[in-house]
Amino acid sequence: MTDCTYCGCDVTRHDPVYVAEGDPEAATDAYCNYGCLAAHVEEAGLAVDTACRFDPDGA
Ligand SMILES: [Zn+2]
Repeated sequence: MTDCTYCGCDVTRHDPVYVAEGDPEAATDAYCNYGCLAAHVEEAGLAVDTACRFDPDGA
C-alpha cells in the first residue's frame, strides 16, 4: 500500500494521483486525489515564486 504524502491515508482506497520529479518512471509522491495534492502544494508553498517564466507583458 502507498500512503498519501499529504494526509497519510492509503491512496489506493481513493482516486490516486502520482507525482514524479525528473524521472517519470520514479514517481515518489502519491496523493489520494487532486485535492490532497493541491492542499500539499498550498501548505508547503510549492507554488510560490516557482512559475516557469510566466510573463504576460513580456515580448
Ligand atoms: Zn490524502
